Amino acid sequence: MAQSKDFYAVLGVPSSATQDEIKKAFRKLAKKYHPDANSSDPKAAERFKDISEANNVLGDPAKRKQYDDMRRLGAFAGFGGAPGSRSSSRGSSAGSNSNVNFQDFDIGGLGGLGDLFGSIFGGGTRGGSRPSGPQRGQNIETSLDIPFRTAARGGKVPIELEVNEECPTCRGTGAAPGASVKICPECSGRGVVSFGQGGFAVNRPCPVCLGRGQVPTQPCPTCHGAGEARTRKKVIITVPAGVDSGSKIRLKGQGGKGSANGPSGDLLITFNVLPDKFYQREGLDVIATIPINIAQATLGSKVSVTTLDGKKVLIRIPAGTPSGKRFRVRNQGIPKGTERGDMIVEVRIEAPAKLSEEQERMMREFAAAGGMKY
Ligand SMILES: [Zn+2]
Ligand SMILES: [Zn+2]
Repeated sequence: MAQSKDFYAVLGVPSSATQDEIKKAFRKLAKKYHPDANSSDPKAAERFKDISEANNVLGDPAKRKQYDDMRRLGAFAGFGGAPGSRSSSRGSSAGSNSNVNFQDFDIGGLGGLGDLFGSIFGGGTRGGSRPSGPQRGQNIETSLDIPFRTAARGGKVPIELEVNEECPTCRGTGAAPGASVKICPECSGRGVVSFGQGGFAVNRPCPVCLGRGQVPTQPCPTCHGAGEARTRKKVIITVPAGVDSGSKIRLKGQGGKGSANGPSGDLLITFNVLPDKFYQREGLDVIATIPINIAQATLGSKVSVTTLDGKKVLIRIPAGTPSGKRFRVRNQGIPKGTERGDMIVEVRIEAPAKLSEEQERMMREFAAAGGMKY
């Protein structure tokens, strides 16, 4: 694969550098990496080649202008990525070597812009057409809501995804079944078309054949010639125990299907844990808030609480328990690896909404004994 280079980065100058600054930077680097001075270091020769290549373009104001235009056009969208990798993730690696934002740039969804760019400046393999070999499927990023208990204990959650996959009707060729192919009239089979001026042509993938160089006599009725189709895909997600909101997992090969037997892309999932009526989470501990009445708090009591695993545990509430007191049940929290948190039972004292006459009389007596008047 031809790696397009950021010529400014190669020379270590900002894109706003003057011609003089570029000249100086080149001279300094050329001296340092000249093969004569580094005969034992093959990497230096490679570096020297890069420096010369960068200088050939940036050192010539006319070529530099074309190069800058290309940068603006987003010809670096494929920078740093493998040709044909069409990640749906935004801004992770795209444009990492450049200060230009290419996140939303996509020339007709074609990969291989690195190759394309390489061919323009003669710096590497000739390319420009859509790689006809296997292509990796699309990466898919999605977020998934999961119930609190599934997040805590782990479990399986089915999801449905919309993915771009090789069209099943034409198997990615874009041709209707039984149709034959002919050389693309737009690009004469080259897969690229040129635009530009002043003897400095810029190639881009042919919009008619999408870089294939051939067009079917009749396009595929399913994908209208695009070669891919949007399909729904069901995936069962195994949620590991202990995930929290924001936890991510990557499922290799569960993204979009590759074309021409290329590998599938990955599925990247960010979990969003839904709140639970009964439990809350604090690290690996789960907090269960239970209501008790004033008599239970005052005289002491026993209450039964259900753990995450569905087991019942009996909590002894001592006499004189204040509201908000916490009781710890060891090892009944969220498991993670070899660790497991605790369940914490927090009691909340609730005042009775209604009292019988008898209860009310006794309550007044209780208050009076404490010096209160009602
Ligand atoms: Zn098709
Ligand atoms: Zn064409």
